[in-house]
Amino acid sequence: MVKEKACIRCKTIYEGEKCPNCDETGSSDSFKGEAYIFNPEKSIIANKMKVVGKGRFAIKTR
Ligand SMILES: [Zn+2]
Repeated sequence: MVKEKACIRCKTIYEGEKCPNCDETGSSDSFKGEAYIFNPEKSIIANKMKVVGKGRFAIKTR
């Protein structure tokens, strides 16, 4: 089973070697909560989290 992790820079949740969104290799596997962003322009959550892409994002990383 592949463990999911969250990018420390943009908070994208992904599996694999590096973040598919921003190429950051730093990640945290202890993230809390997740949000699905479908319309980054309209989403209040996306705005708050300052994410620009679609997809799954961690609410909190550490
Ligand atoms: Zn990233």
